[in-house]
Amino acid sequence: MTAAAPFGVRDEPMSRHTSLHVGGPADFFVRVTSEDDLRGAVAVARQHEVPIFLLGGGTNLLVADKGIRGVVIENAWSEATVDGAIVTASSGSPMAHVAAVAARAGLLGLEWMATVPGTIGGAVHGNAGAFGAETVDVIVDAELMDLNGDTWTAAKAELGFAYRTSALQGTPIVVVRARLRGTPGDRETAVRRIKEIANERAAKQPLAQPNTGSIFRNPPGDFAGRLIDAAGLKGRRLGGAMVSERHANFIVNTGNATASDIRELMRLCQREVKERFGVDLVAEVEVVGQWS
Ligand SMILES: Cc1cc2nc3c(=O)[nH]c(=O)nc-3n(C[C@H](O)[C@H](O)[C@H](O)COP(=O)(O)OP(=O)(O)OC[C@H]3O[C@@H](n4cnc5c(N)ncnc54)[C@H](O)[C@@H]3O)c2cc1C
Repeated sequence: MTAAAPFGVRDEPMSRHTSLHVGGPADFFVRVTSEDDLRGAVAVARQHEVPIFLLGGGTNLLVADKGIRGVVIENAWSEATVDGAIVTASSGSPMAHVAAVAARAGLLGLEWMATVPGTIGGAVHGNAGAFGAETVDVIVDAELMDLNGDTWTAAKAELGFAYRTSALQGTPIVVVRARLRGTPGDRETAVRRIKEIANERAAKQPLAQPNTGSIFRNPPGDFAGRLIDAAGLKGRRLGGAMVSERHANFIVNTGNATASDIRELMRLCQREVKERFGVDLVAEVEVVGQWS
């Protein structure tokens, strides 16, 4: 893309768009609020042969201090409708919005989404889940788009879901919208359940400091937080990054953390847990951007 870039702003700090509040500049940044905008932004980037990074809520990302080359498309297209037991949600819909729309329509089974930050696109991409449920449990299918603008519908079985991952990870495929299935019930039950899980979550997690939720995936049969705690790392600091004292599988930005601080602290946790318990911790957060 040249100086005559047809859309977006230049050198937008990604720290403004990530829940960790770290990350350097995107060469170009554009926020889309409709399907046409989303498709248009992808088309313009293709015409100009600029790499695309699709940003949802920025709640599962560690963006390098040097930022992201190419264009970051922030997906703020939020639209959710209910037809019978099916909720159709645009990929930029916040999960909390989808949970609220489902609850209002008296559908059960999507309440857990109310407390998971981020968008439906991010949830499909990473099979987000909480309170014993995951995206794979509720999704029917997703409309996908490649960088040529071609779209198709992929059924749940084609999306390759597993614990906190899907076949979309590592590909440039864009989630356009998803259809989710609830269970007919009543609004009061859904709203009560949302309140319960919101309270439970607030009691357990370090919500006051910038973070990205669980930093590592839980290893089979264990909990990353238990292992990090048992390795004596709760409260460990590196620069402005700290292993949360409240929940050891959260790394928080105490105010002036760099992306490198956070990455180094992640590596330290991985090393110590490996040495002491022989367990390899795998990052849940996606480490993206230009690191060297
Ligand atoms: C306080 C806190 C609590 C959290 N709790 C949970 C939890 O309980 N369970 C859980 O699973 N996660 C949790 N997370 C992590 C995060 O909320 C989820 O991973 C969420 O699904 C990320 O969505 P996002 O829109 O923010 O994605 P982003 O962080 O913006 O992006 C993540 C990845 O998804 C891709 N992506 C985003 N949108 C699209 C799209 N439309 N098409 C294709 N790819 C796309 C991005 O390119 C990127 O690769 C938590 C995070 C925080 C900050």
